[in-house]
Amino acid sequence: MYLVANIDVNICAATSCKLCTQYCPEANTILYDEEAGKEKGLKYGAAYVAVDRCKGCAQCVWVCDNMAKHHAIKMEMIDQIEQAALTENIQYKEKTTKAQLTKPVPA
Ligand code: SF4
Ligand code: SF4
Repeated sequence: MYLVANIDVNICAATSCKLCTQYCPEANTILYDEEAGKEKGLKYGAAYVAVDRCKGCAQCVWVCDNMAKHHAIKMEMIDQIEQAALTENIQYKEKTTKAQLTKPVPA
């Protein structure tokens, strides 16, 4: 097992910062779903992590904690994540991406 980034949608969707999406060193790993928060009655969309691309560097955690000051990202063991976005389940559309969350996470 290994650590990957996991974003709390409830915290993230209360903002519209998108800051972490600009700092992840891995391409197409932190993505943003414009509808994610709205589906839960929250104000904005939310960032999410394609866990099968995440290298566990925790740079996004530093950005969210110290730059955005939202504390929405935690590193968690991949098999402990309740619902995860996998690359094969992500649809790329104009201006947004949408993940079908999967559970459990294949390790
Ligand atoms: S930096 Fe934090 S609050 Fe901002 S989009 Fe990323 S996870 Fe959400
Ligand atoms: S832990 Fe590193 S590789 Fe994974 S999503 Fe965060 S910044 Fe990207």
